[in-house]
Amino acid sequence: MRILFVTTEVYPLVKTGGLADVAGALSAALAESGEDVRLLLPAYPQAVRALRHWRPIGEGEVLGWRIHLIEGCMPDSGVPVLLVVCPLLFERLGNPYSASTGCEWPDNHERFAVLSRVAASIAVGEWGEKGSVRGWKGEGWRADVVHANDWQTGLVPVYLKLWENTRGRKGPASVFTIHNLAFHGQFPSYVMRRLGLPLDMFSVNGLEFYGNVSYLKAGLYYSDSITTVSPTYAHEIQTDQAGHGLQGLLLARAKTLVGILNGEDNRVWNPAADPSIHHPFTDRQMSGKALDKMALQRELGLHVSATAPLFGVISRLTEQKGVDLVMGAVSDIMVRDGQLVILGAGDRRFEVACMAAAESYPGRIAVRIGLDEALAHRIQAGSDVLLMPSRFEPCGLSQMYAMRYGTLPVVRRTGGLADTVVDVNDPDDRGTGFLFDAATVPAFLAVVHRAFDLYRNRAAWRSIQRRAMRQDFSWRRSAERYRQLYRELVQK
Ligand code: ADP
Repeated sequence: MRILFVTTEVYPLVKTGGLADVAGALSAALAESGEDVRLLLPAYPQAVRALRHWRPIGEGEVLGWRIHLIEGCMPDSGVPVLLVVCPLLFERLGNPYSASTGCEWPDNHERFAVLSRVAASIAVGEWGEKGSVRGWKGEGWRADVVHANDWQTGLVPVYLKLWENTRGRKGPASVFTIHNLAFHGQFPSYVMRRLGLPLDMFSVNGLEFYGNVSYLKAGLYYSDSITTVSPTYAHEIQTDQAGHGLQGLLLARAKTLVGILNGEDNRVWNPAADPSIHHPFTDRQMSGKALDKMALQRELGLHVSATAPLFGVISRLTEQKGVDLVMGAVSDIMVRDGQLVILGAGDRRFEVACMAAAESYPGRIAVRIGLDEALAHRIQAGSDVLLMPSRFEPCGLSQMYAMRYGTLPVVRRTGGLADTVVDVNDPDDRGTGFLFDAATVPAFLAVVHRAFDLYRNRAAWRSIQRRAMRQDFSWRRSAERYRQLYRELVQK
């Protein structure tokens, strides 16, 4: 099958969160099983720098913008990549969505409409309105399936539908994956004029959402199939509590909505062969983990102590991730002689609160604000416990990485966290971490104290660590489910 995977980030070209990991690992797994998969994303400068063997393959005009396409391949998996070059839209400092100040780019509606429009044109084999893809070895390539991800690519199924309506025949099948329903990509109705779409698509049965244009709703409404990243989240988003106003549409489309758990990329997250950590280890030979803990303490200026339980947080610092709950637990962690390491970036108020905590407890709390992939690996390797008290969590990857590195996760029972972590009190002895329910400081404190208590029982802790490290979260199974879904759609 020919699959066009449209994304706004992919590890290791460009990453702000879990979507990048998923795009990198899933495309590699699909290619490995023999599928003709190609990634498409904007040509951010860092993506161009990291791309291998790239060359320009054509140009064209899309929504009034002069666009160049370049083709190359992923530095790790070798999966073919197409980058959409449009310097005015994509060559900026900051991350794919916002400036370094944290403010979203004001023309995001334009940037991601262009990406989506290019994606649809490539998928149907008609790239560019006025240009062509001369000299492209993929000339004539068209997709059987287009896989779009999150609101930034929500217009892809819309442009495909438009193509079908004007040609009177079926185009490629479309899959739309929700990685986080909280981000809608909502814009004032006047942006409709920029999208090259019939204005009657701006309706309840279309892109309209409470008077605005919603790119997320567009993806949900027009795609042939909707997936999300865990079975529990698939269920939760059909309820008033977690539906973000889209539960009605999701309920109506329940037959085409499926939750497929993300996997972990064990090429990247493997404590036995991780170039970012100092001392490799395995579930049979754990001495490296103790050394990694000491190395991390030294690196971050914490007191070096083998016995102080070390709690790690690697996260966007937002309300979703329960950073306020972590802040509420600081004094208890300190009273019980624990240590805390936080790596993250996000809401300014949480960044400030974290830095203030570090100042209050020098040598016992370390905070690093920003994105640091290698440090994230060292924190996973050196910590005893990973704190992830998310209010909601579509899937979550950090808890899976934690388990792989023998770091027991403390998570709230929600979304993918509930699907991947089993509480240590499990009667059938399947425990791999700690779960709690209410998103309140007292409930979180109770579970943190349970972690402290169990930590003192070294034999029990060690055996749960081993069990956690042996969990199979590989992409093999999940990639197979996507392939099956693609096949069903293509055969329809
Ligand atoms: P998200 O909702 O942010 O996608 P996930 O748990 O699904 O959450 O994925 C988070 C990914 O981002 C993991 O690979 C994690 O290691 C990484 N990550 C989060 N914050 C940072 C950071 N500050 N520096 C480096 N990596 C980070």
